[in-house]
Amino acid sequence: MAILPVYLYDHPVLKKKTIPVQEISDEIKELTSNMLETMYNAPGIGLAANQVGETHRLFVCDISEDGNEPLIVINPSIKEFFGDDTEMEEGCLSLPNLRDNVIRPDGIVLEFLDIEGNQREMKVDGLLSRVMQHEIDHLEGMYFFERLSPVRKARSYAMLKRIARGIEGAEYPVEPGSRKATR
Ligand code: ZN
Repeated sequence: MAILPVYLYDHPVLKKKTIPVQEISDEIKELTSNMLETMYNAPGIGLAANQVGETHRLFVCDISEDGNEPLIVINPSIKEFFGDDTEMEEGCLSLPNLRDNVIRPDGIVLEFLDIEGNQREMKVDGLLSRVMQHEIDHLEGMYFFERLSPVRKARSYAMLKRIARGIEGAEYPVEPGSRKATR
């Protein structure tokens, strides 16, 4: 296993819509285990493939306190939203030090493939649903701040500039968002 650099805003790969996985190859298995190690190292509770520069439609997450309930989610699609719209603070490994409250539906019914290639369906709410919706946004090329109200979004611009210029540091390996950025 290996810790991979996390790609930072505004690297182009983070704005790319990812491509569904056709075959769960050894390469995909290795990628997902490296992504889990990268996520635990940061530490974070979710990581999408394009956050490590890959274009596969998959993410990993683990919301357990002890970090021993990893979930590998391949080709996810949200079948249904349920519950009230809920405000919850989000952060992102690609956006060090930017946090804000995002409004999303509380629950989702998610269809995906697990790492063995089994078709799975999960009905989740609360934090796990939140993480999954955030990661699926990444797979569509979307950051959480794009869901903020115009006022809150405007307030995050200064921080986004700092991240893009490599001024905001992270305590895990990163790939700067801009080629001009210095480490
Ligand atoms: Zn994120």
